[in-house]
This record gives sequence, C-alpha cells and structure tokens, in this order.
Amino acid sequence: MKVLVINSGSSSIKYQLLDMQTEAVLVSGLVERIGEAKGELTNKAFPGTDRQVVTKIEQPIPDHNTGMRLAIELITDPEKGVIKDRGEIDAVGHRVVHGGEEFHQPTIITAEVIRAIEATVPLAPLHNPANLDGIRVAVELFPGVPQVAVFDTAFHQTIPAHAYMYALPYALYATDRVRRYGFHGTSHKFVAGECAKLLGKPLDKCNLITVHLGNGCSMTAVEQGKSVDTSLGLTPLEGLVMGTRSGDVDPAVHAFLARNKGMGIEEIDTMLNKESGLKGLCGMNDMRDIHAAIAKGDVRAGLALDVQTYRNRKYIGAYMAVLGRVDAIVFTAGIGENDDIVRRESLKGLECLGVKIDAEANGQRAKEPLKISAADSTVAVWVIPTNEELAIARETKSVLN
Ligand code: ADP
Repeated sequence: MKVLVINSGSSSIKYQLLDMQTEAVLVSGLVERIGEAKGELTNKAFPGTDRQVVTKIEQPIPDHNTGMRLAIELITDPEKGVIKDRGEIDAVGHRVVHGGEEFHQPTIITAEVIRAIEATVPLAPLHNPANLDGIRVAVELFPGVPQVAVFDTAFHQTIPAHAYMYALPYALYATDRVRRYGFHGTSHKFVAGECAKLLGKPLDKCNLITVHLGNGCSMTAVEQGKSVDTSLGLTPLEGLVMGTRSGDVDPAVHAFLARNKGMGIEEIDTMLNKESGLKGLCGMNDMRDIHAAIAKGDVRAGLALDVQTYRNRKYIGAYMAVLGRVDAIVFTAGIGENDDIVRRESLKGLECLGVKIDAEANGQRAKEPLKISAADSTVAVWVIPTNEELAIARETKSVLN
C-alpha cells in the first residue's frame, strides 16, 4: 500500500509518499512560495538513501493545484520518478489542524466532512482554509482514491471538561465552542506510542509527559495512553514559550495594549503570534542562533533561554501533579531532539520529584530514540524523534483497514 501524505499550508505544501509495507519514504518534497512572484519546488526521491535524487524547480507557482501537479509529474517522471503513474497511490492522508469537537479520530473525507472542516474555520482561520485547499486539489487529482483527514486536535479530544473549560461565561462555550482544543496531537500520540514500546508496556498502562519543542511548542499529560491535558488552547498560542509565539500571558494584556497603546485587535494578535516568544525576548527565534549569541555574552539571549526553560519546568511540574505517577518524560521536535541544554535546564531541580538525567547520555547526538535519565531516576526521560508524516500515513492506513 502506498500513501501520499499532504500537509498544505497557506503558501506551501509538504508532501511524502510512503510505502506502508516497509514504511520507507519514497519521496519527500516541499512546494514553497505559492502565489508569490518566485515559487520553488524541491523534490527528493528516495531521500536519505544512496539512491537519493534531488530535483529543484524555480518558477511561479500561482496556486496549490499547480504546485501539486508539478509534484505529481516529478513523482511519476519516467527517469527521476518513483512510481509509473498516479494510479499506484492507494490513499492520501491530509494533515488538518483543527477538527473542533466534531473529530475524535482520523476520518475518511466526504463532502459532509469537508463541510464540517469548513465549519471549524473560525477556530483556525489561518490553517484550516489552507488544509482545505490541499484536500480539494487532491480530490481533483486523485479521483476515486480514498482521502483521509488526520486532525492535530483529535488526540486531545479525551481531555476532560475540567481541563478543557476556560473559566469564562459558559455561554461562550455553549454557543461558540470556546474551550481548550490542543494541537500537535499527531506528534504527541506518535511519540507516546513509541515510548510505550521502549518501556515495554502497553500504551494504555503508561503515564507520560510528552514535550514537543519545535518552532511551535506544546506539552501533553498522557494518562493510561490518553491525552488528559495539553498546553495549547483554543488556538496554538497558549502555554509554552515558542519561536515567535508568546505562550501564556495575562489575558488583560489585550486590554492594556488597546487602552494604553491604541493597538487594534489584529495588531495585538500579530504581535502575540509573530513577534513574541524567543524572538520577542531576544530578536532570534532559532535556538541554535540563541546559543551562539549566549556564547558571545548576549544577555537577552540568555534571558530568552531562561524564560523558555523555566516555563517548560513549570508545566512539567504541573503535569506531574495532574498525573501523580509518571513513567516517562519524552522530548521531541527540533529543539527537544537536538538541544541538550534546553533539556537539562527544563528538568533542573526536579530531582526531588524523581527526575534525574544522565549528563553524558543527554550530551549524545542520536537520530534514534535515546534514554537520557540516570539509572536511579524514578521517571525515565527519553528523546524520541517525532515523525508526523509517518504518523499520518499510519493513521490513514489504519482507517482504511
Ligand atoms: P516546526 O515546528 O516548524 O516543525 P521543528 O520541529 O523542525 O519545527 O523545529 C525547528 C526548531 O528547532 C528551530 O527553529 C530551532 O530552534 C530548533 N533546532 C533545530 N536544530 C537544532 C539544533 N541542532 N540545536 C538546537 N535547536 C535546534
């Protein structure tokens, strides 16, 4: 079975074609700057193997349809391609950011499902329309091929009401479904499943704290294999300190800025999403640049690292209280997988709660899962690479089976 995974953004499409017999990636590609003067497509056939062929195309790509057609031409190219024709693709799995309260699991896309995703657009006005563009293009390009929507919010639909409700007038929930939804669910679920295998326990017996630290950052308390709380909220802004997103702030910041600085709602929203977080604190949002700046004595870069890792620590402590017993803490995504300093600082002082890391193991670089807790740590600590594309492909396959 071959599954094409599509992650469609407002001006980009990421795609992967996987052979689900072996879970090998046959093609991995990125269409960028859709709708801009200069578009770009990078297609890698057999990525990461000695058969890898990289093709780059630079030309205007006016819309998602054109971008996806170019990608399909490369995938089926007689010389550089990996399959003979698009008929070899058995299913398409789509990343969909927001599934509202409607979707608890991956779902086969029908006209009715498309309408339900459209209905959640007010909850994710930037993401869901772009995801829908990807779905519409794929439906047109692969008529008759099953299409599956895999929602970032679905894994968190098990969160109980006391954790998903905000203490706002109840009518806001009743009429507008204002509540915590949580995101990165595909990644949290994937690393939780991988961690259970490493612990040698069934997932439904595992209590875990999964820490996804990439450009976007979130943490999830997983009880008996189910998400019971998560740091992202109604939108992907709440919680941890991210690359450019603030995470938790006093909600009165909006009123303060509007009253005292004359800022409008769009301006405030842009500031909190695009100009805050690590970037807001020190001008840089890539952790590698921040470490380089700290090494040169940049005090604000040091502050940004401290604010982020302190917030991580605070949430880990909170989720330990939520779960009571914790089998493992799992770090994943760009920062979580690569940054031993962030991991060390995020766990600093938690020895009294049974969390001890092994400095040497933590300093190792690994593409494979790595255990970084000390032998006498009550709570295991793991670094587990996330793989959202593989997770989407597996979910797609399981729905169709
Ligand atoms: P996204 O949320 O966009 O999927 P990723 O999970 O790829 O992001 O994470 C991207 C971030 O990971 C970068 O902005 C950078 O801060 C961080 N990162 C990547 N590689 C390293 C590294 N070797 N050391 C520290 N941080 C890294």
